Amino acid sequence: MNVVVDLNRCQGYAQCAFLAPEVFTMHGEESLLYHPVVPDGQLEQVRRAAVACPVQAIVMGEEAGAGAR
Ligand code: SF4
Repeated sequence: MNVVVDLNRCQGYAQCAFLAPEVFTMHGEESLLYHPVVPDGQLEQVRRAAVACPVQAIVMGEEAGAGAR
């Protein structure tokens, strides 16, 4: 499962870093670092982070893929 963060949307609210700290980490005040490949055990956390993101900047898996639709 892949995850993509639209960093143009991301406002650095850090909800994701709070909910899925192994995948998302804040670097400084408002830049976000993340792992584009979600480890198996982290799926649920990343899903919650995606839902919690106030600006819907987190896109997971199928939608994050090559845009085949
Ligand atoms: S929750 Fe959304 S806005 Fe906040 S740091 Fe994560 S991706 Fe950015």
